[in-house]
Amino acid sequence: MSDTDTRDPTSLRTPIVAVLGHVDHGKTSLLDKIRGSAVIEGEAGAITQHIGATAVPLDVISEIAGELVDPDDFDLPGLLFIDTPGHHSFTTLRSRGGALADIAILVVDVNDGFQPQTLEALDILKRSQTPFIVAANKIDTVPGWNPNEDSPINATYDAQSDRVRQTLDTSLYEIIGNLSDEGLSADLYWRVQNFQRNIGVVPVSAMTGEGVPDLLAVMMGLSQRYMKEEMEIDVAGPGVGTVLEVKEEKGFGTTIDTVLYDGTIRADDELVVGGMNEPIVTDVRAILQPRPLAEIRTENRFEKVDSVSAAAGVKVAAPDLADAMAGAPVRVVRNRDRQEVIGEVEAELADIAVDTADNGVVVKADTLGSLEAMADALEEAEVPIVRAEVGDIAPRDISVASTADEHKERTILGFNVDVLSDAEQRAEIDDVRLFTDDVIYQVIDEYETFVEEMERAQQ
Ligand code: GDP
Repeated sequence: MSDTDTRDPTSLRTPIVAVLGHVDHGKTSLLDKIRGSAVIEGEAGAITQHIGATAVPLDVISEIAGELVDPDDFDLPGLLFIDTPGHHSFTTLRSRGGALADIAILVVDVNDGFQPQTLEALDILKRSQTPFIVAANKIDTVPGWNPNEDSPINATYDAQSDRVRQTLDTSLYEIIGNLSDEGLSADLYWRVQNFQRNIGVVPVSAMTGEGVPDLLAVMMGLSQRYMKEEMEIDVAGPGVGTVLEVKEEKGFGTTIDTVLYDGTIRADDELVVGGMNEPIVTDVRAILQPRPLAEIRTENRFEKVDSVSAAAGVKVAAPDLADAMAGAPVRVVRNRDRQEVIGEVEAELADIAVDTADNGVVVKADTLGSLEAMADALEEAEVPIVRAEVGDIAPRDISVASTADEHKERTILGFNVDVLSDAEQRAEIDDVRLFTDDVIYQVIDEYETFVEEMERAQQ
């Protein structure tokens, strides 16, 4: 919010929830379970499918959570789950105030414990100061587990045999120990008094649904108690959001999938969007929402709407979006001064800008936020960067890297990006090395191993 902003907060928006964790630990299953339970428990159409997100309203949460959530205790309207868990760097997406996600669920498989992506997710959560809870998933796989889908998970836990509880405890306390190694204090959620100070660990099964009511109750409680003020928005004001993805869409050209966290976006609005080189000023051509599942025909997956209010996920079609960046800000101009809005977008982009040197490696990442996380990690490793950009590795990146004299700088480090096929060929011809992975530390490790080998070879 700018200093000149004197608007009245008129409404409370839905807290935005991100689900993250190591691959195969159950992020997708957990989201599916929450969505599935919401569909079963709620009236038809009670959950709303957004672009890149699912909104679960308070009454549905309270249906699922039973006595754990009394709707009279809450005035937040529900929870908006960002549901692109494969795309784990979305957790690095920013909003004006910090992280785009207001709250996060870190999913950890009880059989597998902390893994590289768990640690990386944790690092991102710590850096962005995002409150989170841990879903200790797959408790149904504990040998001898006696399921009870109708009782709060602490009661089910207490009702297990000593042997089962001991097995589960070993996993749960290992997770709590891992969090403690990272300087975080955590406990089983029913023992936590202050969720702002201590991280609650909720045993769950995305398979049976056990623990899901507890997970929702803890998240609602955490949001209502500690984050309510941050949810105050001017719902009719000009929309403010973050680009989730830039996509070509048949019939609409380049579109931006956007998470709107304040105000409203209308079909006749003028927009300022963060671009590769400069802010893009454009006019909305269409605001699109997914059609209800039953109505989807392949050639027509979206329906045009007149306006959408925060918090929501929407697809926006507009001219000149080719240079829009995932992770960049989106702002509606409407009755504001256009230059001022452009200035705000510039300031936000400058805030995320990466320091570059005359010589160094080329860095590519899938979003601005992940680029920043990558740059931070490289700074720690004392690796200078000559250029950092959002997007897949393209031939022109090879051109940049190939101008370097030293082997260690004829390199491109990519996080969560693809290598375009013509770039792969160019890299071979120009003797440029590519290092790509979806775990930051993996990319840097591989790069450092390469540099050590090069140095050893030269001696
Ligand atoms: P993601 O990569 O984190 O999104 O993980 P998925 O949701 O795709 O889950 C990975 C695998 O674990 C799939 O085969 C799921 O069926 C399985 N899985 C996820 N949650 C549970 C659970 O609570 N219990 C059991 N038994 N299997 C689970």
